[in-house]
Amino acid sequence: MSKTVLILLGAPGAGKGTQAARLAQALGLPHISTGDLFRANLAGGTSLGDRARSFMDQGELVPDELVLEMLFDRVAQEDCQSGYLLDGFPRTIAQAEALEARLEGLVPMVIDIQVPDSDIEQRIVGRRMCKECGAIFHLTFNAPAQEGVCNACSGALYQRKDDTAEVVRTRLEEYHQKTAPLIAFYSERGGVSAVDGRQQPDLVFEACVASIQGSGHGSSHGVNS
Ligand code: ADP
Ligand code: ADP
Ligand code: ZN
Repeated sequence: MSKTVLILLGAPGAGKGTQAARLAQALGLPHISTGDLFRANLAGGTSLGDRARSFMDQGELVPDELVLEMLFDRVAQEDCQSGYLLDGFPRTIAQAEALEARLEGLVPMVIDIQVPDSDIEQRIVGRRMCKECGAIFHLTFNAPAQEGVCNACSGALYQRKDDTAEVVRTRLEEYHQKTAPLIAFYSERGGVSAVDGRQQPDLVFEACVASIQGSGHGSSHGVNS
């Protein structure tokens, strides 16, 4: 079976995590979120978490060498052998180049979930996450059935410390300056599928699946949408 590496690009709050969870399940690939990996390190009090904390709290990107070490450890694990889905990585050209060197000729499939900046603050400030299972909700756009309680596992919902109107401004600046150039980087390689992220989550999902199938990647894994 050929190996599939799927990259989801998009601004903070564009819907990468929401779609990644569904796509990972449909494709049978592990969902690797560098944001989630960092938050697990913060919660676990590791030295990596300590080194990443101030950058994350301020909405700045964590330095490439910390990200790369953590990510490459993760994708070296057994469950990533036939491929993986990357959410929130790469975020800089240096990260993309390091991944490219590691993939040794394998060209990743890249989807760019597009949402205008004017929609981002509301997405971010209204986001609530489950402490137990990581499920993603929104106070208005995807409200849990019972306030503060996860629909999937009944875990408690919380608001990320960096999900404030103030920090989101820095995160958006970082995105435009350092991450948006990856669209041109991948356009010059295997290409980038643009998906309109303003649609309902179900329609965004369908558009992602269609672009995966159109690329030929879906067939080797069988997309179960
Ligand atoms: P990212 O991982 O790109 O930061 P998330 O998937 O966490 O984005 O989504 C950010 C917020 O926007 C969450 O509260 C989520 O429930 C909400 N959201 C995700 N997709 C959509 C959508 N298509 N329409 C409206 N809200 C959405
Ligand atoms: P969002 O889903 O809102 O885009 P993430 O959960 O992906 O946010 O990331 C949260 C924070 O973790 C980022 O603001 C950044 O500080 C750090 N981070 C996550 N992934 C990376 C990465 N690939 N490179 C640098 N910093 C990262
Ligand atoms: Zn939950």
